[in-house]
Amino acid sequence: MTHTLLPTSIVGSLPKPSWLAAPETLWAPWSLQGDALVEGKQDALRIAVHEQTRRGIDIVSDGEQTRQHFVTTFIENLSGVDFERRETVRIRDRYDASVPTVVGAVGRERPVFVEDAAFLRSTTDAPIKWALPGPMTMVDTLFDAHYRSREQLAWEFAGLLNQEARELEAAGVDIIQFDEPAFNVFFDEVKDWGVAALERAVEGLSAQTAVHICYGYGIKANTDWKATLGSQWRQYEESFPLLQRSAIDIVSLESQNSHVPMDLIEILRGKKVMLGAIDVANHAIETPDEVADTLRKALQFVDAENLIPSTNCGLAPFPRDVALAKLTALGEGAAILRDELTGAADTSAPATTAVPA
Ligand code: ZN
Repeated sequence: MTHTLLPTSIVGSLPKPSWLAAPETLWAPWSLQGDALVEGKQDALRIAVHEQTRRGIDIVSDGEQTRQHFVTTFIENLSGVDFERRETVRIRDRYDASVPTVVGAVGRERPVFVEDAAFLRSTTDAPIKWALPGPMTMVDTLFDAHYRSREQLAWEFAGLLNQEARELEAAGVDIIQFDEPAFNVFFDEVKDWGVAALERAVEGLSAQTAVHICYGYGIKANTDWKATLGSQWRQYEESFPLLQRSAIDIVSLESQNSHVPMDLIEILRGKKVMLGAIDVANHAIETPDEVADTLRKALQFVDAENLIPSTNCGLAPFPRDVALAKLTALGEGAAILRDELTGAADTSAPATTAVPA
């Protein structure tokens, strides 16, 4: 793993090139087919790695260039789910969507992302991170006509995710991340079985493990919901104490421009914190100083060796130039703070905070 202080990382998605899928569209269908699609996804992944590397991102992700949706693409590769039989359900208690139906025992028919992860591994020597959906968020994206128990279905999914995670680890993935935005909504379930299911998913792994909990992409259903949450967003207060005691190594959370009180991360003390210092709901590009300022505030509540500067969520909905400029801001902002921290022992070093760009 990386020994860089404040290693930067992104949560997940980056915009896809326009020749691969329609730009600025979440979950856009592929523009290519067959072998051309395979090649197109790999080329897009190469670009994602190249841009992260040159812009100062230390822990490299695939930018979700090979998947259409962060939950559905995994589910499409499972048995027991009928994609023709659709029901309308309320997702995360927030918006209605037509979803596939669980019609029988779920099983993992084949490795889902393992080849893609091996390809990512072949493109870089940097530490790599791969994201999978979390069990609760998967359950919340389906209609279950078979188990008729969210807890049982989550437990089944956790077993399948564990199979996938072990193979990702064998393919050379250093950090395996589970996306659980549902942890910010279903607090009783988080307590009753959500964290336990997540721990089932990471059982036996030697790779580091992360959970990403956010307030969602900057789409209307999410921004409308956020408007109802008041001046202080304290949702993390429900899951953080449980995660602090859990087997999960890293917690990824939203901070920049959000109403999450920074001191909530104190609850996680001892865990690694992937702190969102880049807003994904606003085209305005953060300055490196703004990023450094956010990180500096976080350091009151997390030890420097445990801080991973990151984004609030995925960057897929942005125009490409905006997303890439935000990566640069993240890399440069972390560098400012890294210099401050390592220069602290050297009294002759000038303060770097006030230097204009
Ligand atoms: Zn997110």
